Amino acid sequence: MTSTPTGQGQGRRAEVVLVYQSLLGIYGDRGNATVLAKRLAWRGFDAVLSLVEPGDPLPDTGDVYLLGGGEDAAQISAVNALRADGGLHRAVDRGAAVLAVCAGYQIVGRSFTVADGPSATAEGDTEIVGLGLLDVTTTRGPVRAVGEILSRWTGRDGDEQWLTGFENHGGYTVLGPGASPLATVEVGVGNCGDGTEGAVAGTVVGTYPHGPVLARNPALADHVLELALGEPMSALDRPEVTELRRQRLAAVRR
Ligand code: GLN
Repeated sequence: MTSTPTGQGQGRRAEVVLVYQSLLGIYGDRGNATVLAKRLAWRGFDAVLSLVEPGDPLPDTGDVYLLGGGEDAAQISAVNALRADGGLHRAVDRGAAVLAVCAGYQIVGRSFTVADGPSATAEGDTEIVGLGLLDVTTTRGPVRAVGEILSRWTGRDGDEQWLTGFENHGGYTVLGPGASPLATVEVGVGNCGDGTEGAVAGTVVGTYPHGPVLARNPALADHVLELALGEPMSALDRPEVTELRRQRLAAVRR
């Protein structure tokens, strides 16, 4: 049965690509894909969710590409497969959006280090070349950043919003001049304990929080969709989403 398309999307196709769930899928980050597909469908888009695993080519038709968190070894496999594929660079070149979380964030940067390994430096770390889609560099931090994270983000309408999530990373990330911080840390470590969280350049967004971050922060989900589709997202009134967010904010401030 086909239904008449209604709402903003008018049945237009919008494709969300979930990249390497088997390698970059810890802490339920695949939920970011569910959130985006759902918010598109609620607005009347024909939301297509594509799951891509290493060895499969990344589709050249995606509007937004999602990378999640992963352990160091999985992260290295993922960056090698993505470099060999080349599809993420093509996607960014044609204006698609990328949301990269934690290990994914480190992967889209210039380089990251993992502890030990065959080509370890004098300090005992191995430097891995990233995809260079974000001007950020990650090295091992003094302590693992674990716990709830709360940050302030200036949303798409210019309003300041709270971003909530859960961080767990040994890598600390420093931004270069080509990237801007996504948010300012209130609780937690964020990029490297310098008060900044995440990075943005054009349509590429990197961030540390899991949660999934887009389930906890629907305004950020809509911002990613706006980057992907190049048009403002219509308002959605979903009381259950608002209630989840209220609970999360209350919990981190407790
Ligand atoms: N392996 C990376 C680190 O520890 C990323 C971890 C993660 O994705 N949660 O820094």
